[in-house]
Amino acid sequence: MSYQIPLFNLNFDEAENRAVVDVLNSKWISSGPKTIELEKKFADMLGAKYAVAVANCTAALHLAVLAAGIGPGDEVIVPSMTFVATVNCIKYAGGTPVFCDIASKENLCIDPDKIEKLITPKTKAVIVMHYGGFACDLDRILAICDKHKIALIEDACHGPMSEYKGRKLGTFGLAGCFSFFSNKNISTGEGGILVTNDEEVYERVKLLRSHGMTTMSYERSTGHSASYDVIGLGYNYRFNDILAGIGLVQLDKLLPDIAKRRHVRELYIKMLGDDERIVIPFRKYEEISSLYICPLVLNNGDAAYRDAVRSYMAKNGVQTSMHYPPAHRFSIYKDCPAELPVTEFVADHEFTVPMYGALTDDEVSYICKTIKDGLNSL
Ligand SMILES: *Cc1c(COP(=O)(O)O)cnc(C)c1O
Repeated sequence: MSYQIPLFNLNFDEAENRAVVDVLNSKWISSGPKTIELEKKFADMLGAKYAVAVANCTAALHLAVLAAGIGPGDEVIVPSMTFVATVNCIKYAGGTPVFCDIASKENLCIDPDKIEKLITPKTKAVIVMHYGGFACDLDRILAICDKHKIALIEDACHGPMSEYKGRKLGTFGLAGCFSFFSNKNISTGEGGILVTNDEEVYERVKLLRSHGMTTMSYERSTGHSASYDVIGLGYNYRFNDILAGIGLVQLDKLLPDIAKRRHVRELYIKMLGDDERIVIPFRKYEEISSLYICPLVLNNGDAAYRDAVRSYMAKNGVQTSMHYPPAHRFSIYKDCPAELPVTEFVADHEFTVPMYGALTDDEVSYICKTIKDGLNSL
């Protein structure tokens, strides 16, 4: 089905095409100088000491979990209201996910009060997900982690350049993980990056990204090293220069794109903010946000009602989505204990409306009118 208004649109033009051709002409297409340039630029933009580009964010999360020393028998507290990769990465390392509820239908991030209640002597880390590019309550979560001597890992996929008290998301924990998947704020098709301020984490992640080898082929080709040793069980989680070329162009577009998204979000709030049937999560958020997606939560009805609203939108040419079918409801996690009343409510009442910089005022008006018509008629 082709929609008049898609959920997301790539922010691409001739610049991405040129970047790809330039890399192809350079004859270095695997991980090399463009990947290193991207890592430096991303670390600088975030004010982080180190960045390591990888194949995707799922790989970044896996490496973050390994860097935190998580293994069999260790528990990791994680929200269920996230993309399933946030949870799967714990199991890759043999750890046990412990699901934590989110704060409220206004704040879809993990609830610090509930984190503390889930801590046991086996708890080794907390993985937070900054939903939609809006920060979790990091002051409180960091205080809990410090008190119990456990690691914080940030799934910051939704939040490149988002801030909490003036500091960029992804730079608060042991590691912050970002995605360059097609529909993210920074799109390269596939890709991800891990940032950290910890030199040991940086060295370990760089090693595990490429088979546990002490040097990469680009370093050898440039004469920095003649041979290598393998000193740990690593993976092939490398990024490549073709995608890094696209990523560098996308990084230049990130802040202007976020400014346009801010205008779109203001329109949504203006047009839907007075409707008592709808909650706009994070409505009062005042800091810089990447505004990755625009979730809405219906106050009434049930999952079938929400699905009917989504069908109505689809029939009228507006693509919508759900963020997210919660992880604890998937078959693979059905045996994990999960007391998650707020997550359950949001899972049955949330839907996500289009959000990207190129949305016109007329399109946002049409989307809002369609939502209201749908709610009036159902
Ligand atoms: C997209 C996404 C991921 C996975 O990213 P990939 O690069 O596709 O592996 C993980 N967590 C969240 C919250 C995401 O939105």
